[in-house]
Amino acid sequence: MRAELREWIDRLRLEAGDAFPEKVTASHPAMKAHGKFGQPCPHCGSPIQRIAYAQNETNYCARCQTGGVLLRDRALSRILKQDWPATLDDLEDS
Ligand SMILES: [Zn+2]
Repeated sequence: MRAELREWIDRLRLEAGDAFPEKVTASHPAMKAHGKFGQPCPHCGSPIQRIAYAQNETNYCARCQTGGVLLRDRALSRILKQDWPATLDDLEDS
């Protein structure tokens, strides 16, 4: 479980590079959360998170897929700064 989360985070970071990780959305069957932003995760019931950039969007469950860490979209995090919640628990507390 932990190894798989680690692998996902590494893979997303690798594929993201300087561009949006389109391939994650398009080709990984593990991304069961795609297209389900705001809906409960089928595995744990946590709200599905979204990263949106230009015409691209990817959805994921922060609890199942990133160990509770909300991925930061660079453009969004620049705008939101400290308002951007760092973890799912922060999001639920606010
Ligand atoms: Zn989940």
